[in-house]
Amino acid sequence: MSHDWMADALCAQVGPDLFFPEKGGNYRQAQQICARCPVQEACAQTAAVHEGDSHRHLRHGTWGGHTPTTRTRQNREAA
Ligand code: SF4
Repeated sequence: MSHDWMADALCAQVGPDLFFPEKGGNYRQAQQICARCPVQEACAQTAAVHEGDSHRHLRHGTWGGHTPTTRTRQNREAA
């Protein structure tokens, strides 16, 4: 998956580890970076389209500052 907005993604400057933590890890540092990212909205929208109504366990990583759990809840609330 590649989108034009990804060229401005702050996560591309720090690598994926913070954004895809091991099981039991947290997303706090990634979310702090996302909060400053100029493409946060496009990123969140892309995740919403790509993941659709996927189960929580099929969602991975931080997108637009949102964790898999948060995105699952948002999808349910939007339904
Ligand atoms: S908002 Fe998206 S593109 Fe920006 S740093 Fe976070 S995960 Fe990366």
